[in-house]
Amino acid sequence: MATKTIFKRIIDKEIPAQLVYEDDRCLAFRDVNPQAPVHVLVIPRQEIQSLAHAADGDAPLLGHLLSAVRTVAKKLDLAQGYRVVINCGPDGGQTVDHLHLHVLGGRRLEWPPG
Ligand code: AMP
Repeated sequence: MATKTIFKRIIDKEIPAQLVYEDDRCLAFRDVNPQAPVHVLVIPRQEIQSLAHAADGDAPLLGHLLSAVRTVAKKLDLAQGYRVVINCGPDGGQTVDHLHLHVLGGRRLEWPPG
């Protein structure tokens, strides 16, 4: 069997995470290496390697993840705005092979990213 990703281990509660939100399809927790005052990761419970690996039938789940981002942003008072990032594959800078959405906020963010 393939080795579990670190995020699958968080889903399975094998390692701790600072949860900020969870429901039957996803969870959101603080990034261990925050790049902004607020840096949260939203991940599906379903194991999807990356956005590129999502199937057309996953569209409702992908929409749900964006809804969860909005819930997290409200919960963490990101009324001034925030950024949602999905790194996909090696060129996209993805380092954990489990689809995740970064939610960054709490300061004015630069554009474009590096
Ligand atoms: P990416 O580079 O888009 O794949 O993002 C992976 C993110 O996961 C990075 O921002 C890491 O800091 C974060 N990360 C790795 N391990 C953990 C962990 N155990 N708990 C929370 N965040 C993590």
